[in-house]
Amino acid sequence: MKKIAIIGAGISGLYLANLLEKEKDFEYKIFEKRSKLDLEEGYGIQLSVNSIKLLNKIGFKNIPALDIFFPKKVNFFKSNNPNKICDINLTQFNDDLNKYTTTKRSTLLKFLLKNIPKDKIKFNTILNNIDYSNNIKVYFSYESEENFDFVIIADGVFSQSKLIISKENLKPKYNNSIALRGNFNKYDDNNISIFMGSNFHYVIYPVNQNNEYNFVAILQKKLKESELKNEQFFQSEIFINSLKKTLTNNSLINLENLTEIRAFPVFVSKNLATTNQKNIFLSGDALFAFPPSFAQGASQSIETAHDIFASIISGSDNLYKNRISRIHSINWRSKLNHFAFHLSNPINTLIRNIILQYLSKNKKFLQSYLGKIYRD
Ligand SMILES: Cc1cc2nc3c(=O)[nH]c(=O)nc-3n(C[C@H](O)[C@H](O)[C@H](O)COP(=O)(O)OP(=O)(O)OC[C@H]3O[C@@H](n4cnc5c(N)ncnc54)[C@H](O)[C@@H]3O)c2cc1C
Repeated sequence: MKKIAIIGAGISGLYLANLLEKEKDFEYKIFEKRSKLDLEEGYGIQLSVNSIKLLNKIGFKNIPALDIFFPKKVNFFKSNNPNKICDINLTQFNDDLNKYTTTKRSTLLKFLLKNIPKDKIKFNTILNNIDYSNNIKVYFSYESEENFDFVIIADGVFSQSKLIISKENLKPKYNNSIALRGNFNKYDDNNISIFMGSNFHYVIYPVNQNNEYNFVAILQKKLKESELKNEQFFQSEIFINSLKKTLTNNSLINLENLTEIRAFPVFVSKNLATTNQKNIFLSGDALFAFPPSFAQGASQSIETAHDIFASIISGSDNLYKNRISRIHSINWRSKLNHFAFHLSNPINTLIRNIILQYLSKNKKFLQSYLGKIYRD
C-alpha cells in the first residue's frame, strides 16, 4: 500500500483525492491549514470543457441541474455602451456529455467533498518540513511526523510548502490588479458578459438556475507593500467604495444590489515551480497561478491533479514535460486578454473592437485560441 500526503484541501487537492479514493493500492490523507472549508460562499467559477471532462469521470454529470448553468455565449461590451460589440459561441467547444459550465465555487467544493471520508482530512495542519534523504518524512505543525511515498503540494497561490522544498524564489508577485467580487440576485442575461473599461473589466454570469449571478471585476491598481500586507485595508468600506465608484463612474453598471462584496489583490506566479525531488509533485496554483482573465485557474488545477494521478499510477515522471507547454500557452493568453480588456486609449479600443468582431467569428482562430485549451 502506497501512502500519499496531499497538502491543501482546495480544488486540486480534493479532485486528486477523489481519483485516489477509487484505488485500492493507495492510501491518502489531506492536510489543510484552515479549521474548515467555506461551503456557503456564493462566488462563481467557470469550468471549461477540459475540466468538465475530468470532473465527469468522478460523477459531476450527476450534480443537480439546478445547481449549475450551461452558458451558450460570451458577450463582449464596452462598459459605457449598451450595444454589444460581438459574442463567441461557447457551444462549439461542447460535446454531448461535456459542456462549458458555470457554478458556485462552494457547489464544486461540496461535490468534491462528498466522496471523501471525514477522517481523511486533517484540519488546522500545515507542513513544517520535509526530509527526503531516504523515504519522504513529513513534519507537521501538530508536532508529529509521518512517512509517505508521495507528497502532493496543493496549497494554493501562496504555497508555503513549496517554499520549504525549493531554494528558488518562488513567491508569487502582485499583478497590479484588484479583484472585486460579489453576487447579484437578478440580472437579465443568461450568458457570460464581459464589460471592458479603461484599466478595468468585469464579468457577470449565472451560477445556477436559481437567478443567482456572479460578479467579478478586475481593476488595475498599483499598491504599496504595506497596503498589500494589510488584509483590513482590502475589507475597509472606504476602499471597497472607491473601487465601486471607479466602476460606476465609467460604466452603465448599477452596483447597489451587489451582495457579499469582497476585494482582494490578485497575485500570480513569476516562475514555474517544479521540483527535482522524486515523488513530490506540485499541483494547481501552487504549481502555477495565472492572471484570472482567461478563467482557467480551477480548470488547470483539476487538469494538473489528473496528470499527477496518472504519473503516480503509471510510475512515469513525464508530468512537467507536458504541463510546461500547456502552462505557457494559457499564461500568454491570460496576459493578452488582460491587456486587451483594459485598453484605455479610444483609438486602441476602437481597433480592438474591430479585431474582436472579426476574430469572434473566425473559426480557425477560435479553434486555435480557445479550442486548443478547452478541448485538447
Ligand atoms: C478573481 C479570481 C477569479 C477566478 N475565477 C476563476 C474562474 O472563473 N474559473 C477558474 O477556473 N478559475 C478561477 N480562478 C482561479 C481559481 O480560483 C484557482 O486557480 C483555484 O482555486 C486553485 O485551486 P488550488 O486547489 O490550487 O488552490 P486553492 O483552491 O486556493 O486551495 C488551496 C488550499 O490549501 C490550503 N492551504 C493554504 N496554505 C496551506 C498550508 N501551508 N498547509 C496546508 N493547507 C494550506 C488553503 O486553505 C486551501 O484550502 C479565479 C481566481 C481569482 C483570483
